Amino acid sequence: MVEKLDTSPIKEWEGYRGRPFLISGPCSAETEEQVIATAKGLAALDRISIFRAGIWKPRTRPNSFEGIGTRGLEWLRSVKRETGFLVGTEVANEKHVYEALKYGVDMLWIGARTSVSPITVQEIANTLKGVDVMVLVKNPINPDIELWIGAIERIANAGIKRLGAIHRGFSSYEKTSYRNQPNWQLPIELRRRIPEIPIICDPSHIGGAREYLHEISQKAMDLNFDGLMIESHINPEKALSDSSQQVTPEELKELLSRLIMRNPSTDDPRLLDVLGELRQQIDIFDDSLLDLIEKRMKVAETIGKYKKDNNITILQSARWDEIVKRAMIKGKTKGLSEDLIDTMFKAIHQESINRQMKIMNEGIESALKSEKSKE
Ligand code: PEP
Ligand code: MN
Repeated sequence: MVEKLDTSPIKEWEGYRGRPFLISGPCSAETEEQVIATAKGLAALDRISIFRAGIWKPRTRPNSFEGIGTRGLEWLRSVKRETGFLVGTEVANEKHVYEALKYGVDMLWIGARTSVSPITVQEIANTLKGVDVMVLVKNPINPDIELWIGAIERIANAGIKRLGAIHRGFSSYEKTSYRNQPNWQLPIELRRRIPEIPIICDPSHIGGAREYLHEISQKAMDLNFDGLMIESHINPEKALSDSSQQVTPEELKELLSRLIMRNPSTDDPRLLDVLGELRQQIDIFDDSLLDLIEKRMKVAETIGKYKKDNNITILQSARWDEIVKRAMIKGKTKGLSEDLIDTMFKAIHQESINRQMKIMNEGIESALKSEKSKE
């Protein structure tokens, strides 16, 4: 467990208007008119806490729109003046931090391509020492929880109290319908390791297309995330970056109205009674699962001894294929996903192999030992 960070709960952050804490605005600031019109559209929703706009854009390939630069900070200042919004932008180096703070930006976030670099994150952290500003750390583009936690710790060590994390998904060589893999187990692990850190989901960069925004946002809410950062643009079709994932303020309003907010916990005694009973059932089934796995391992060990006595290799691919195939077919009839069967059986198989390996090597180790004592 990471040492408890000295951070302030999101409910105490300036501009907090309830769960989800909402951040919205264009991927990039493009023109003053576009920025102001988007901000006014969002202000009409009367629900957004922070207006976002990218000023410096770390793009994968050169010759794409790399951001308007410092000039855009003037427009953010106009947004503050005209709509009362707090504003936020991405910073990727020391200079960006200085510039953004000079123009009164209220929230900074460290992008996914920056949080992979401990040296750059430390440079940003050093610049932030003694500054009271909201800071969010996006997950690094690779699914490395330690790197993400490390970046968060560096910013916390600089004394930033209003500190949060953004889950924006992870790059993968595999092409799926989403732009970035959500790997939900990583933000869940982050919550376990640093429970005090607010987590904001960024469905725009996970989905990469507006049709996925709702399902990803709903999932984040069901996992009890604290907020959402959703890109919006007054005219998404004309956006200079991330055009296909941006929505108009009106579309955002409609999306938010369809979000179902569930309670993270309850103190209603009637509900607690029902839940308590069901949880008891779960515990009983979990105990049976463990008993069964124990029995299965005993049989695997017996097989291990048999293989050893008959000089057969531990790994028998044909048999393993047969086990998985059988489990997949049977699992399907029980409504269990292929994902579950695959993960569960891989783990069980690995444990069996480890045990059989130990049995195979037992004699060898003691023979080696007695050889040694003879020397
Ligand atoms: C962004 O928020 O516009 C952005 C560039 O995001 P990421 O760092 O997640 O790619
Ligand atoms: Mn973007």
